[in-house]
Amino acid sequence: MRVLIPNLGSTSLKYQLLETDNETVLARGKIDRIGGAESQIVCWETGSAQESRTTAPVPDHRAAIKILIDRLARLGTGGGEGIAAVGFKAVHGGPRYCGSFIVDDNLLAAMQDFVPVAPVHNPVYIQAMQIFRETLPGVPMVAVFETGFHATIPEHASIYGVPYEWREKYGVRRYGFHGSSHRYIAQRVPDLLCRSAKGLRLISCHLGGSSSITAIQSGQSVDTSLGFSPQSGLEQSSRSGDLDPFAVLHVMEKENLSPGEVRQVLCKKSGLLGISGISNDVRDLEKGADEGNARAALALEVFIYEVKKYIGAFTAAMGGLDALAFAGGIGENSCRVRQQVCGGLGFLGIHLNQEANRAPAQGDRVISLPCSRVAVMVLYTNEELMVARETARVLTTH
Ligand code: ADP
Repeated sequence: MRVLIPNLGSTSLKYQLLETDNETVLARGKIDRIGGAESQIVCWETGSAQESRTTAPVPDHRAAIKILIDRLARLGTGGGEGIAAVGFKAVHGGPRYCGSFIVDDNLLAAMQDFVPVAPVHNPVYIQAMQIFRETLPGVPMVAVFETGFHATIPEHASIYGVPYEWREKYGVRRYGFHGSSHRYIAQRVPDLLCRSAKGLRLISCHLGGSSSITAIQSGQSVDTSLGFSPQSGLEQSSRSGDLDPFAVLHVMEKENLSPGEVRQVLCKKSGLLGISGISNDVRDLEKGADEGNARAALALEVFIYEVKKYIGAFTAAMGGLDALAFAGGIGENSCRVRQQVCGGLGFLGIHLNQEANRAPAQGDRVISLPCSRVAVMVLYTNEELMVARETARVLTTH
């Protein structure tokens, strides 16, 4: 089955066209700087020696989606008639939609209801789902919610200390996100270690523009750092991460901020950017710290400390640890973050091979010493593959 996986950002559209029968990528591409005068369009199709790169004005997501569909049709790798389904890595569908579902009006309404909880992610996906439905009528669309992998988290790890009615009336509980990435890691780690997932206690660190850590026992999520919204857990690039709700109320009252205004600050001006004051990108923070910028160094220190704390907490929650995996833009690329996170964790059986950790990227790999009780790994997560598999599964079972 040919499944198109669009991956939407507020000003970007990445995509892959996957053949699920043999799990091969038929086409992929990226349209960047949507809304600007000089959008960049990078595409690759199977059989092409190299990517094509062009620049053109792409005013909005509708125009970007049209470029993508035309491109696939023109190059004979799909097009409307060749795409069997569209699979979306959707973020928040509330309590009713924790898993993978066919996109229909009820699902879109549930996502709309959770826009204030996932303001960075839900609106762009709702809009894209509507455009794809109009552009490719009759092609089934599946939403693979990022919360789905975490449906196995037990109640004691998902409930908050608020009136129980909030959970029943408003769905206030821990959902967890990055489900496709953590699901990939849960399946890939046992393969790499040549063992069964049964009994394996794994901590998956997806560290990127948005970061989360998940405790995975026998292949199932048992706890995770993100909660009711993607704004919680670790410090995100520009989102706050966990904080005391009374701090928010205090500042709202002091500065007379509306919920909308404070939401903007917590989404766009907080996290690594908020602490450092210079950037939300770990590359800039590492450079800044090396050049003596104290707040850049502090932002990194806070982030690394929080990752360590989750590793300790989740090891305790699972009664031990067998494997620790790093993925995402920071997890894959920053040997400094990996080294500092693992430093001092010898008492948990984590011993990094410093040379392997520093070696230039070489794909999925183990970076711990042979004597390390816990296998430490770097993985290139493949969320698109997970979304394609889920899409095919949902459509086959329907
Ligand atoms: P997203 O969550 O948007 O998909 P990624 O997982 O690609 O993003 O992560 C992007 C982040 O990864 C950047 O914001 C930056 O902080 C970090 N990053 C990317 N490359 C490097 C690098 N070479 N060294 C350190 N950090 C990096």
